[in-house]
Order: sequence, then C-alpha cells, then structure tokens
Amino acid sequence: MAIELKALPFEQSALEPHISANTLSFHYGKHHAGYVNKLNNAIEGTDYAAKTLEAIIVESSNNGDQGIFNNAAQVFNHDQYWLSMTPDGVEPPGGALAEAIERDFGSFDALVDQMKAAAASLFGSGWVWLASNDGALEIVSTQNAETPLVDGKDCLLTIDVWEHAYYLDFQNNRPGYIDVFFDQLVNWKRASELYA
Ligand code: FE
Repeated sequence: MAIELKALPFEQSALEPHISANTLSFHYGKHHAGYVNKLNNAIEGTDYAAKTLEAIIVESSNNGDQGIFNNAAQVFNHDQYWLSMTPDGVEPPGGALAEAIERDFGSFDALVDQMKAAAASLFGSGWVWLASNDGALEIVSTQNAETPLVDGKDCLLTIDVWEHAYYLDFQNNRPGYIDVFFDQLVNWKRASELYA
C-alpha cells in the first residue's frame, strides 16, 4: 500500500495573484511529491509499508527512524497545508470553533495576530498550527518536519513557513507571505468543520 500524493484541492493557478502557479508547481510538484517518493522508497519491504500515513508518523517518531519520520510527516503536513487554503475568499470561523477562539484567545483578531507572530518568529524551517488538544485550542510552532499529530493533537489549520513555500513570490519577505495567507487564503470553514 503505497502512500499517495493526494491531489491539490484547487488548480495550481487558483491562488493567484497571492501565491503563483510557479510556486505551486515547485512546492507541490517537486517538494511535496519528493517527500512521497522518498517515503515510499524508504518503507518498501519494511513493516511500515502496510500502515497508514498517520501510523507511520507516530511509530517512526517513537522508533527514532528519523528519515522515515521526516518524509512521512512532511507528506502529512503538506496535505494539511493545501487544505488550509481556499481560493474562495476568507470567511471568519463559525459555530463551536468561533466560541472556542473567544474562550481561549479572547477574540478572533487576537488569534490571528498571535498566529502571524508565531509564523514570523519561527527560526529556520517549520510550521505553525492551530491545533485542538481535547477541545482546547493551541497555537503550536514546530521545527522542520515536526507535527502536532505525534502529541495526539488534532490539526485544524497550518501554515508552511519553509522558504520553499514563499521564496519565488516573496523572496525573503516572510511577513508578506504570512499576511497573504491569513488575509486572503486561509480556510476557516474547514477548520470549523474539523473542530465541530
Ligand atoms: Fe512546504
């Protein structure tokens, strides 16, 4: 059972003018696809080959199989990242998630400000997540391929802050990319559905 490269949930040009088709052709077509290929090569003939992606991530983390963990987690993280964006415009969260944001962060604007700050200040490569820890919302910053999944947290939303996510469009302007992600592209509808 090979791990598959899931289809993007939108066309490669769908996020323009905010994130270019050129960026997506490299980010999805080279980086994400590369993690899938390396993972499948690494697990072939091992006990991991019959397991789900999530099980591979947790078990390789526990076993210290760093190479397998890095590629498996990066496949999962990118699957989450594409689903965290929508070309249909930003709508604020609703329902139970909106109430939980008020409870845990005071306001929606405060949450966004804190997520932007976490993404801007993450040193090197990594991810910033909105995760649910048994219903309690947390902003989680992870280095490299690390993912809240290994701590049993549910991933509601993530922004990729590896340079490959933005360098072709924004060069070194990471804050510009972060603003575009949260102001133009972020998919609160999916996060609200997951939380509910
Ligand atoms: Fe990436």
